[in-house]
Amino acid sequence: MADYKNFKFDVDADGIALVTWDMPDKSMNVFTEEVMDELETIVDRVAGDAAIKGAVITSGKDSFSGGADLTMLKRMFQLFQEEKAKDSQKAVELLFKSSGRMGGLFRKLETSGKPWVSAINGTCMGGAFEMSLACHARVASDAPGVKMALPEVKVGIFPGAGGTQRVPRLTNQQDALQMMTTGQSLTPQRAKAMGLITEIAPAKKLVETAKKLIKGGLKPVQPWDEKGFKLPGAPIYSAAGANLWPAASAILRRETYGNYPAAAAILKCVYEGLLVPFDTGLKIEQRYFTQILQTLEAGMMIRSLFVSLQELNKGARRPADIKPTKFTKIGVIGAGFMGAGIAYVTAKSGIPVVLIDRDVEAAEKGKAHAADLIAKEMQKGRMSEEDKQKLLSLIIPTADYADLEGADLVIEAVFEDREVKRQATEKAEAVLKSSAIFASNTSTLPISGLAKVSERPKNFIGIHFFSPVDKMMLVEVILGKKTGDKALAVALDYVRAIKKTPIVVNDTRGFYVNRCVLRYMSEAYNMLIEGVPPAMIENAARMAGMPVGPLALNDETAIDLSQKILKAALADLGPKAVDPRHVELVDKLVNEFDRKGRKNGKGFYDYPAKPAKKHLWPELKTLYPQQDPDKVNVEELKERFLFTIALEAARVMEEGIVTDPREADVGSILAFGFAPYTGGTLSYIDGMGAKKFVRRAKELQKKYGAQFKAPKLLTDMADNGETFYQRFDPYKAETQKQAA
Ligand code: NAD
Repeated sequence: MADYKNFKFDVDADGIALVTWDMPDKSMNVFTEEVMDELETIVDRVAGDAAIKGAVITSGKDSFSGGADLTMLKRMFQLFQEEKAKDSQKAVELLFKSSGRMGGLFRKLETSGKPWVSAINGTCMGGAFEMSLACHARVASDAPGVKMALPEVKVGIFPGAGGTQRVPRLTNQQDALQMMTTGQSLTPQRAKAMGLITEIAPAKKLVETAKKLIKGGLKPVQPWDEKGFKLPGAPIYSAAGANLWPAASAILRRETYGNYPAAAAILKCVYEGLLVPFDTGLKIEQRYFTQILQTLEAGMMIRSLFVSLQELNKGARRPADIKPTKFTKIGVIGAGFMGAGIAYVTAKSGIPVVLIDRDVEAAEKGKAHAADLIAKEMQKGRMSEEDKQKLLSLIIPTADYADLEGADLVIEAVFEDREVKRQATEKAEAVLKSSAIFASNTSTLPISGLAKVSERPKNFIGIHFFSPVDKMMLVEVILGKKTGDKALAVALDYVRAIKKTPIVVNDTRGFYVNRCVLRYMSEAYNMLIEGVPPAMIENAARMAGMPVGPLALNDETAIDLSQKILKAALADLGPKAVDPRHVELVDKLVNEFDRKGRKNGKGFYDYPAKPAKKHLWPELKTLYPQQDPDKVNVEELKERFLFTIALEAARVMEEGIVTDPREADVGSILAFGFAPYTGGTLSYIDGMGAKKFVRRAKELQKKYGAQFKAPKLLTDMADNGETFYQRFDPYKAETQKQAA
């Protein structure tokens, strides 16, 4: 019966309805207004038809559902802002009402009087898992890759459709908090052990098992709606509760430094909600949810980490008129640290790779690196023997450039040396078809310069990976002066094929990401020189929301590399381009103390043998006279890190290196973890307002130097009251098209 657009509805001979969620024109099911409307009708129909004994809900796609369509929330924000301008009280009331829609629907399902079972056949996220929790039982398939989570906190919100109330009524509070404040994914086994899943069934018997539960007399009443319901684990006011809750707050503080209001709201919802009856708990959740929706953090995180991220992944910057590329063969030249990683991620997505080095042994070594990465994945249960064989069979190590024949794309990752790169380019182009694209993974050499030796500069582009390639989700695609649209399209198709996120950057020294990262580390050098205790530098950066302190990061990237970069800048750009005190510092560390970073076990940190943990090098404090820690202004240290990076991002926009604010924001979070709660480098400025930002930058400039000088672009924006998303409106073309 085609009664619904998004669901199939079939009733079997036993009177059990099978509700199959399968949205047309979408690869994954999501909750939209229309889906909620239809589901509500279905709940009513099941409840109202005496011939229907109960319902099983499953999905017609590989995955169950990705949860709520967050663009719905984006629209809700817009409506809220518009209404707020007229009547702020009414705006909040509206927001409260609309934010309760989903939770209300799930409550209706669970109290409808008929048993519902969720048959989870694949990934089940957010709102979809909350709906499953409202069902009277949940059966999960044992197929590989089935997972479930309440990941809302990762985009600045929290499970606001009953999740914070049902999870801690099904499992102990500690596990509930851990799961929701981290947004971690659960395997069916873990979910079952926690009590969140009723049964695990073979994929083929999933629906049958779910139906069997109903036939076996599954009660259409949730435990919390029964008289005398007791929490699993202990009540809030108990000895166990008294042990858990003070520690829970402290742990949250340690992990988030108070930067994520949504994570704190989860604790409040659980704590307060478990003291009252279930329906009151839902109300409490709805109130906190309404509050959280109004926070800057939620707005910025949803925009960057959900909306923009999806748009970039889907190819927002791809020239539309070029046919998508189907890759049959990719070449990687240079099987070193980066090349081996690139070969691995390429083969992992099913594309054959020819991996070239100077001799076969070196190329084999690169393939062996891929084998090591696979072994680690297998240890974690994320890859099977079959996956391993398939992946390794796709990597062909060789020293013969003739094997590149027929490749659609070649990525060069040889030594960072113009002459070596020239040779690699020439040898490859001699065998490549004329339409093939040649990409360089250089981190410092301008693409336009490297393209000069190419026979086909239109087909020459930069594809800049970050290390470790298998873990880092961002790729910078660099346009040389002569790079053509076809090369851009192929590069973006490739990044999409390997499931990473691309940002498109115009050619410049350091591109985008490394320019920002250098600012971060250079501000830490300034602080060291001022005599700020090293531990305070690292802690302040983490308190500001950075995942890794600047000194620890510099150890990872290597201090002798910083030394090389400083020397190169000095040689190419003159003495004004570098701070002589920085040169003195890195020279001292590298030349005098042989401290090159993690790679030689000695950097800003010492790296004792495991299980001992790394710790700051005690002598670091003796290099400069130390300030009294009690007199150091920690808030200002935090600001200095975020400002110096955000200012560099603004300069990059002013110079036209990055042109789309979504790319600057998403790139900054994925590449170096720029305080995610801000929404990224430019959203940080937008959130504060250009005017306030420029005023504060001026104060910092006066106190600490020219690195805080706001570029003209920002002072103009401050004068005009503009934001980056207004001035560089990424949707301008779309809006104009719609208007026309
Ligand atoms: P690496 O020294 O580990 O590897 C370079 C490899 O190239 C070696 O295996 C070498 O044998 C091989 N090689 C040299 N000349 C060759 C030739 N003519 N033909 C074939 N192979 C040749 O270096 P890496 O760290 O992997 O860096 C490679 C490139 O990636 C550089 O351009 C670097 O700037 C860039 N990069 C590095 C990083 C990083 O973090 N290491 C990050 C981004 C980009």
